[in-house]
Amino acid sequence: MAADSLKGLRPETLAVAYGYDPAEALGAVKPPVYLTSTFIYPSAQHAKDVHEAFFDGTGPLAGKKGEGHIYSRLGHPGLDILESRLAAIDGAEAAAAFSSGMAAHSSIALTFVKPGDSVLHGRPIYGGVDMLYGSVMPGFGTHVETYTDGCDPDAVRAAARAALAKGPLALIVAETPANPTAAMVDLDLMVAVADEIGRETGRRPLVVVDNTLLGPFAQRPIEQGVDLCMTSLTKYCAGHSDLLAGGVSGKLELIHQLRTLRTTWGNHLDPFTAWLVVRSLESAAVRIERAMSNARLVAEFLRDHPKVAGVTYLGFLKEGTPARAVYDRQCKGAGSTFSFHLHGGEAESFRMLDALRLLKLAVSLGGSETLICHSATTTHYAVPREGRLAGGITDGTMRLSVGLEHADDIIADLSQALEAV
Ligand SMILES: *Cc1c(COP(=O)(O)O)cnc(C)c1O
Repeated sequence: MAADSLKGLRPETLAVAYGYDPAEALGAVKPPVYLTSTFIYPSAQHAKDVHEAFFDGTGPLAGKKGEGHIYSRLGHPGLDILESRLAAIDGAEAAAAFSSGMAAHSSIALTFVKPGDSVLHGRPIYGGVDMLYGSVMPGFGTHVETYTDGCDPDAVRAAARAALAKGPLALIVAETPANPTAAMVDLDLMVAVADEIGRETGRRPLVVVDNTLLGPFAQRPIEQGVDLCMTSLTKYCAGHSDLLAGGVSGKLELIHQLRTLRTTWGNHLDPFTAWLVVRSLESAAVRIERAMSNARLVAEFLRDHPKVAGVTYLGFLKEGTPARAVYDRQCKGAGSTFSFHLHGGEAESFRMLDALRLLKLAVSLGGSETLICHSATTTHYAVPREGRLAGGITDGTMRLSVGLEHADDIIADLSQALEAV
């Protein structure tokens, strides 16, 4: 269907209908997979025009859909479909897809942060992102500063000052809810702080949000004015634990820079994986909705269980707290990934995990199957114990990514495994 006739439709509809026209492929209802590394031109002049359009954005083919492709590392039809669909779902002008979520994060860093610049990010944050800004980028002469309460305006402004003292602030990075404690970050606050710094210094930092945990249907960062919305498509969007992919949405001018440098770094998403993600996006809203309703039932069961010391679930945020106010304003659901803490430590946790029959012991999240892991010895293995405790991760903390099985079966398995503790 022509793209213009779909304008104004809801994200759930765009996820099914946007970005592919069957007339382009012999009427096939679903897009073909274009397994090719290179593309032929009808004439030498056409080849020149295609290159001019890609590199300079000028000439007779500039801005035309189906302007032609050059070589699959620079772009391919599957990428066009996925990127236009992802941008439409996120409500952004454009999107770029990468070979993994971390490929997307590192491309943002290498494109928008220059030697001498500083970056401000929240803690906790995904381990790979912590490493990217804490130990990899400083090798290129960049600086980092962190905030721990992303809902506290004074604390965030103080951290921004500290970052500015180290060097011009290039990026404000927020993961919300943050992994694994479900800490909220106030995106309106991040945008306001970026605007203030822009007015004051003449250089406005970009606000980057990692929207992996809730995904594009339950949280809408672009509508809140953030510059770049990053999603690990590996998780809920692809949703079957069978591929890795990453996406970034935002203004065309920023996405164009990411795409141009992607041709140098070679971290684009390949045709087959792009096709799988497009296929999976069609059912993402429904899958996420079911996973979220299952998660609520599982969280309630765990909260009431005598062997469980606590449950860190967004749906249980206390009325009247700043985090709850941000959650009510910013989120349309509580997600399906959360942590719970057993009375006891590693030994008790391991007894429970080894007694599970249905739930699978693995890191990652957002798949159709329910996954569980012991945080201290897996996802946070490399974090010293004091650091873990400060971040709310005890020796009895487990992260659960609730999937699509029947909620009663998930709860029955947890119940019998808790008997083993
Ligand atoms: C998994 C994850 C990433 C990294 O994505 P990959 O596709 O595994 O590279 C980034 N951020 C969050 C919040 C994640 O959960």
